[in-house]
Amino acid sequence: MKVAKFGGSSVASAHMLRKVAGIIQDDPERRVIVVSAPGKRFDGDTKVTDLLINLGETFLNDEPYEKEIDLVINRFKDITDELELGDKILKEIRQDIHDVINSDYNSELKLDAFKAVGEDSLAKVLSVYLQSIGMQASYLNPKDAGIMVSDEPGHAQILEESFDYLYKLHEREGIVVIPGFFGYTKEGKLITFSRGGSDITGSIVAAGVKADLYENFTDVDSVYCVNPNIVDNPREITSLTYKEMRELSYAGFSVFHDEALIPAFKASIPVCIKNTNNPEGLGTYIVSEKHTSYNPVVGIASDSGFLSLYVGKYLMNREVGFGRRLLNILEDEGISFEHTPSGIDDMSVIIRESNFPKRKEERVVQRIKEELKADTVSIERDLAMVMIVGEGMNSTVGIAQKATEAFANAAVNLEMINQGSSEVSMMFGIKSSGIEASVRSLYQAFFGEYE
Ligand code: ASP
Repeated sequence: MKVAKFGGSSVASAHMLRKVAGIIQDDPERRVIVVSAPGKRFDGDTKVTDLLINLGETFLNDEPYEKEIDLVINRFKDITDELELGDKILKEIRQDIHDVINSDYNSELKLDAFKAVGEDSLAKVLSVYLQSIGMQASYLNPKDAGIMVSDEPGHAQILEESFDYLYKLHEREGIVVIPGFFGYTKEGKLITFSRGGSDITGSIVAAGVKADLYENFTDVDSVYCVNPNIVDNPREITSLTYKEMRELSYAGFSVFHDEALIPAFKASIPVCIKNTNNPEGLGTYIVSEKHTSYNPVVGIASDSGFLSLYVGKYLMNREVGFGRRLLNILEDEGISFEHTPSGIDDMSVIIRESNFPKRKEERVVQRIKEELKADTVSIERDLAMVMIVGEGMNSTVGIAQKATEAFANAAVNLEMINQGSSEVSMMFGIKSSGIEASVRSLYQAFFGEYE
């Protein structure tokens, strides 16, 4: 059995849903289908989830919201009209929206319930469409599928017992269409995952049914080894490990939701990223075992928006607990950190700028100076992290040399070097302005000879 998940752009229009149906028909193993809400059809279009968030906020602000409801309904009407599915399903969607409006949920739960209407309605539309073309298909609500989650609106976590329930999907006849993005608490409250969370549902369902493969259909042929906005026509990655994918998505690879890897990884279900517009393409496989590869580096990732908090104190190396006290201050201030490169008398803490708002800066610096009696405390913003990733790196000599040479060739100064203990990645801190030049130069160094 395969679980196939179709993302927002794959279900954005009737034209795309025809392609989706073709893909489902092509392989009888594709028995469980997970869908997103309709996404953007063109640049500048609005995702249905964003229309729903807007509707929810308008309603919660006590403003007139009829127009916002119509915008949502019209997106589905465009699809159902073209697929000739009649009006019954549109009435049902409108009723679902009014049920949320009239419910006695608090505002957080209401907002989650509004958001869920997008995937829920699309799952209903797709199952009716599949039936209309003669396929045996049915809609299945996540509650009936057994997707049970924690009570954290907008950030649900799956509960372990869900997996056993999901296995029962094997007993169902025909194709099952499940909406992604939400589950239910034990008390029956609807709670959504974080944004982009249909990937998580797909992965949970694939783990639950112990699928042979979790296919994640999107709008790119595969995962590229480097950001295609920086390097033209970069190499496609045909296969990589969960660990490599996790490292890459840390610094800017956004093809697949971060949290979605975990359920598939724990159950050892291979994941395949494929293109709905080119289903014959090979796609990218994410697997648990290291594949033999000619190149120890599988990908180069980069992300800006980091800062470095520098703390210097003479004889820091003799002071037991200095690092803990420094990190305690950050914990106290609710700031999470990424890395802590350190020297004899100094320590830097690398933090995402979004986690360290400017308004906290003065207080944090003051606290470190006073409580830790530090000699120097300074903050450098506007940093970027560039990473090279590959499980083959730990058994290959000369990777760091090749990488640093690439930075030198690009005339980019290195502010920090960090090789994680797992040796799956090597990370370089630079000024944000140097990202493009260094990524191009690294690409040339590690992939140029295979061009
Ligand atoms: N529709 C949701 C979002 O836009 C979830 C998803 O598409 O995966 O975030």
